Amino acid sequence: MRFMTRAASVILASLLLAAGAPGANAAPTAELPPVSSEELSSSDSMLALINPSIQLSTADYHPTDLRTVAGSSHQLREEAADAVEELLVAARQAGHSLQLISAFRSYERQRVLFNQYESQYGAAYAERISARPGTSEHQLGLAADVGYAGGNCQLRICFGDTAAGKWLAQHSAEYGLIIRYPAGQEEVTGYSYEPWHLRYIGIDHAQAMQDADVATYEQYYNLLLDQAEEAPAEPTENAVETTPAAESSPWGSSPEPEASADSSDDLVVLRFLPPFRDWSFGLSR
Ligand SMILES: [Zn+2]
Repeated sequence: MRFMTRAASVILASLLLAAGAPGANAAPTAELPPVSSEELSSSDSMLALINPSIQLSTADYHPTDLRTVAGSSHQLREEAADAVEELLVAARQAGHSLQLISAFRSYERQRVLFNQYESQYGAAYAERISARPGTSEHQLGLAADVGYAGGNCQLRICFGDTAAGKWLAQHSAEYGLIIRYPAGQEEVTGYSYEPWHLRYIGIDHAQAMQDADVATYEQYYNLLLDQAEEAPAEPTENAVETTPAAESSPWGSSPEPEASADSSDDLVVLRFLPPFRDWSFGLSR
């Protein structure tokens, strides 16, 4: 039953991807940075994929390397904090007084936030503008909302049309950050356009995603999975021993022995990939 639920969620994600989007037919010409399947499945990975279909395995997942971002009261994981600090300095040098508005949010904080939206606007709309607890990138410590001081468009779609918003879209990748919820991709990402929400994935990946003209992280993540699947098989015993599935997999909570003994939720992911990967990207080889 659990397996079916997880599989169903992966298939649902695939259908969202298959909904198609600009860039979907643009096969990347360059090699993407190498990744292991474990990097793609661990909640602790900079590449962890979280969206309304794919929830954190451990509801109260809490990163261990959070630190306060300079000039703010918000926290991010160290690598992401470095990136956002550098980005904000560069933005100011370019004449845009961007600031960090929100970053890490715990499960509990997200729960309170979502409940507020839900009681205010109803569940359907709340889901469009906020993540359910356990499905927010902010809980990963890798997402940052930025805006400019005193602006009317703070946390609003019109931020994308401001000079600061345009600068951000143009330069984020240089710092390893992507605009996670681009315009016109709601069916793929599950979220309406958020020009202020940045996600850290590392410079190599952010630039590779840009170079390959891939619109959404869901699509880029699938290309990485595709590549990892093609790479020579590597032993996974160590990874499994040191990171129990219940702690590390974003594909579903699995405290039961049967799930741990299966040893790899990665396999579940890969098993369900080939069909929709081909529908989505026309990359059948
Ligand atoms: Zn955000």
